[in-house]
Amino acid sequence: SYNDILSSSADSKSDPYSPEDNINVVVRVRPLCSREEKSNDGSAVDFPGNGQILLTGLSDVPGMKGTKTKVFSYNVVFEPGATQEDVLQYSGITRLIEMAVEGFCATAFCYGQTGSGKTHTLTGPPNLFKGKKVNINSPDHGLIFRSFLYLFRLLQDRSNVHFVLKASFLEIYNEKVIDLLNPGNAKKSLAVRWSKKSQRFFVENLFTVDCEELDDLLAVLEEGMRNRAFGSHSMNDHSSRSHTILTVYITSEQQMENGVYITKQGKINFVDLAGSEMTKKTHSEGKTLEEANNINKSLMVLGYCIASLSDSKKRNGHIPYRDSKLTKLLADSLAGSGVTLMIACISPARSSLTETISTLRYASRAKKIRNKPIIVMDPREALIISLKREVEALQNENNHL
Ligand code: ADP
Ligand code: MG
Repeated sequence: SYNDILSSSADSKSDPYSPEDNINVVVRVRPLCSREEKSNDGSAVDFPGNGQILLTGLSDVPGMKGTKTKVFSYNVVFEPGATQEDVLQYSGITRLIEMAVEGFCATAFCYGQTGSGKTHTLTGPPNLFKGKKVNINSPDHGLIFRSFLYLFRLLQDRSNVHFVLKASFLEIYNEKVIDLLNPGNAKKSLAVRWSKKSQRFFVENLFTVDCEELDDLLAVLEEGMRNRAFGSHSMNDHSSRSHTILTVYITSEQQMENGVYITKQGKINFVDLAGSEMTKKTHSEGKTLEEANNINKSLMVLGYCIASLSDSKKRNGHIPYRDSKLTKLLADSLAGSGVTLMIACISPARSSLTETISTLRYASRAKKIRNKPIIVMDPREALIISLKREVEALQNENNHL
């Protein structure tokens, strides 16, 4: 039943988000895995309802002396029985997709320690893309593929608008940007530059693929997943250190009643972040200088940005977007013009409690951010529209004289 898989705050069952909440934070708790079950490492997470997560057995956790339990509250919590389709339906991602179609910049990112279910949530288990033809109906498909399906259904309903879709897929590893769709360039790092025209950062020479059909988007996902695994001797080690961003660019052109064409440029980013434990490991010993400086710079800076954005006292202060590749590329989502979904992923295991607390604190901080999304239009069109408005205003004034 609904209650077994999901708990949401009582006052907001039908729509967990108010329209002004442009950062949504949800938590997904994966099931105990067989290794955790075998080692008698039981669950330390409980669900009292109303979007609450109760952590138990804290007295063994360093820094928690004297505390036995702790409660965190969110709009939506996915309990271990939640399915991939539940995450599509109740995370608020469908609203992000709708807004991307309307010309907003939307970002969904998964945060959490290595092994907490980030990649599972976004793309599903690794064997989904191995070998033969992908089964479109598999219940294992993650949020990215389900979002593609949702997007195509949405566009079919709007036959009066002309849409052009493109997609790109990149990885940030050691502060190097690698194109996952252009394996010939696999070892080269692409430059992140500032575009004066569009007033945002972009990746120079990033391969963007035209996607006319659902199959084209699926091919982008498959290809990128394959190239991500390629060439890394330890897949788990590599993926815990790297961030991936799959972006779908949605350009729409629509003729208004007054004859003017409006072009809107929306996009949606799906971000699989490096393991959150990496922030601490950056400071640990046994790393080369380059690794220590680079591996998790992006993750640390993302943390600083979220901390400064969420603190109202610092709201007018400096937000250090420019300090890492990841935050440069996500700046338009975090800076106040976009809509963002953060999926905090946690393991229920007692042995993960320290990391789980750290992830839930991060999620609670992100919940405090307030954005004001704006539609991204082609600058020329925006100018025409504002000039037309001025002309109309002048005409009105004349009429009143
Ligand atoms: P991360 O990307 O955060 O490092 P993964 O997504 O690779 O973690 O998940 C770690 C392991 O747990 C994988 O074997 C994955 O298949 C499994 N897993 C994660 N979330 C779930 C879930 N909701 N249901 C079933 N298995 C899951
Ligand atoms: Mg992963």
